[in-house]
Amino acid sequence: MTFADQLIDCGIPEFRAHIPTLQINMGKRCNQTCHHCHVNAGPQRTEVMTHKTVDRILELLGKSDSIETVDITGGAPELNPAFRDLVTRTRALHKNVIDRCNLTVLFEPGQEDTSMFLKNHHVQIIASLPCYMEDNVDRQRGRHAFKKSIEAIKQLNRLGYGHENSGLYIHLVYNPLGPSLPPDQEQLEHIYKSELRKFDIKFNKLLTLTNMPIHRFLRDLKNTNQLANYMALLKQNFNPKAAAEIMCKSLISVSWQGYLYDCDFNQMLEIPALSRQTSIWDIDSFDILSRAPIAFADHCYGCTAGQGSSCKGAIA
Ligand code: SF4
Ligand code: SF4
Repeated sequence: MTFADQLIDCGIPEFRAHIPTLQINMGKRCNQTCHHCHVNAGPQRTEVMTHKTVDRILELLGKSDSIETVDITGGAPELNPAFRDLVTRTRALHKNVIDRCNLTVLFEPGQEDTSMFLKNHHVQIIASLPCYMEDNVDRQRGRHAFKKSIEAIKQLNRLGYGHENSGLYIHLVYNPLGPSLPPDQEQLEHIYKSELRKFDIKFNKLLTLTNMPIHRFLRDLKNTNQLANYMALLKQNFNPKAAAEIMCKSLISVSWQGYLYDCDFNQMLEIPALSRQTSIWDIDSFDILSRAPIAFADHCYGCTAGQGSSCKGAIA
């Protein structure tokens, strides 16, 4: 049975409901090269969104009443020369902005004032910290990633991030180190909060994400002969409640080149929205994607396994 068939079986429509969120992938350049990266990002990658593409996105965004939140990802989006322009002008349109920040980028040359910039524009931060143990984080994200991440969270805390009533949110993201499903999100948040207390840092929520069988994680699964087992695990744990709330029902994704996708994962697999390659210059409004059918494939089981997985963490 295909993923789409499974949705039909559960009486779940294969169409997008509405579009409160626009996710923008600003490119593949990143200061890190994490093992699980579904973007295949790294310092040598040169694919980055241009100012011209940002201008066109903002033009379309200005016409959209339904989009409330702009969720910016990469790579490390802060390294893109157009990042600040995108944030500033999106905030001027009274939209919420999320920055998917890898934390270590805050210590890259030229990024000294990025945390202050984020604070000044009330940008919500979603930051990856796949474990509260140094060894595990460094194994997945590179040497010294844990120490730098803790320092970055402290820097953000000093500006007010993570403090009650500050209105400045920092959420941490957990994903398993290997081919297993994430544990219960709420329970793990308690453990994170208690374990990270010794570093004197604050964060708002923990979001658990399932590793998607795409790019580097897929390659690792193949190299270790675990792909079949992992796909079986995802399929066996299909959860209709999570399937009813998959994130592609309420977001669209734009690539660094301005192409439209049903989500960031489909973008990485080059599975276009609207069944054909369509760019932001081919449309007059993002609304064309509301009520549009979504392109599903086998990797989608990563979103519906167990408690489900989305850009906002567990679903069900
Ligand atoms: S920080 Fe994020 S984008 Fe960069 S390599 Fe790691 S997972 Fe990929
Ligand atoms: S991978 Fe993308 S298209 Fe598939 S279910 Fe998840 S969000 Fe939807």
